[in-house]
Order: sequence, then C-alpha cells, then structure tokens
Amino acid sequence: MICAWCQQKFVPKIIPWQLFVQNNQSINRLCERCQRQFDPLGKRRCPQCSRDQPATEICSDCQFWRQIYGQQIMLNQAEWHYNRGFHDLMVAYKRYGDYELWPVLQQLAKPVQKIKADYFVPIPPSPEHLAQRQFDTIKAIFSHLVPLTHALAKAAGTSAQGEKTRAQRLQTAQSFFIKEDQPALRGKVVLLDDIYTTGRTLYHARDALQTAFPDCQISSFTIAR
Ligand SMILES: [Zn+2]
Ligand SMILES: [Zn+2]
Repeated sequence: MICAWCQQKFVPKIIPWQLFVQNNQSINRLCERCQRQFDPLGKRRCPQCSRDQPATEICSDCQFWRQIYGQQIMLNQAEWHYNRGFHDLMVAYKRYGDYELWPVLQQLAKPVQKIKADYFVPIPPSPEHLAQRQFDTIKAIFSHLVPLTHALAKAAGTSAQGEKTRAQRLQTAQSFFIKEDQPALRGKVVLLDDIYTTGRTLYHARDALQTAFPDCQISSFTIAR
C-alpha cells in the first residue's frame, strides 16, 4: 500500500478477513513511521474536554467555561494530542488545500463511530473558507464515517479561529445559525470538529443549536485536543 501521508510504500498489517471485505476502510492507511507522529490521548486527561494533563480534575479551560455555563459545561471526546505531527497534518490539509489528505484524518477520526447519537452535526466552514479551499474540510473527514446532519451554517465575514490569539478567540462573537430548512432535532446530538482549542467554536455551535432545539442533549467530538 501507499501511505496516505508520506506517500511511501509499506506493507500493512492486516488480519485475513479484511482481504474479503470490499470496503477496506478498516485497513490502516498510514505507515508505521507516520503513525508514530501521532500521540493518542491517555487516561490522564480532563474528564470534561479530554485535554492532556497530569491531573484528572477539570482543566483551566473548563473552569473558565464553568463560570459562564455553570453545570452545563460541554463534554468533549477527543482521541489525539494536538502535537507537532497533528499540527503539520492540519496545515497541509487546510492551508494548502490538500484534499487528498482526508483519508489520514478519517483514519484518526475513526473512534467517532463508537459513539451512539441521534445526530452528528459537523461544524460548518465560513463561506470565505469554502470558496478559498473549494471543499468543506470537516465534512470531507466525517462524511465517510457517520451520517451527517448539516443543521448549522456560519455567517460570512467571520474570520477563522486559527488566525487569532487566545484572547481574541475567546472574544469571538456568535457566528453560527440554524439553516432555514432544518427540521426540528430532538435527542442526542454530537457536534463534530477537527480540533478543540479554546472551546469557543463548539460552545457557540452548541448555543445556536440548543436555543433552536431545547430538547437536545449536545456533546462534541474532536479528533485532537
Ligand atoms: Zn507514511
Ligand atoms: Zn477541560
């Protein structure tokens, strides 16, 4: 096989039944060297947002959100540490518009399939980013893993979180709204994004959904934290 990240040939470790199924999603698409660049989050993490830390009490980010939301702070499940390897992958995928890298992210996001939910709602791109990149980076990753409900849209003229400092990110105004033709949602909703940085984006997305659909229980899944 060709590694989806470094494009080098490698021999995947497969178990025999995988040879007989047409959908080879379960076969690892990364060579061992590339896999080692990604660091799975361990048990020592914030129980609320999955932040990597030595203590198992809630982290400083969640304490900040608790001042605003009280007991309604969001549960975020993440799988990978936002380290150098993950950062480099995201820069190639987003900044350089390398659509071909979606299988790598899909591989890293696969644990989302273990989550039971009524709806998986992806964080939408801004109209500017969609025009610039020519593809929806979050949809490209998750549409191959779970059924998506595109309930949210993002207003034009709202620049990306990645270009801001931490303080600026936290002050960002609400930019999400519910799509006009969206039928009512009720039940368990999981928001999907690539990275949980400050939590600002996900909390705004949840606020928009929760206001429109008060009967929903909303949590989130991000590939990295
Ligand atoms: Zn590789
Ligand atoms: Zn936390």
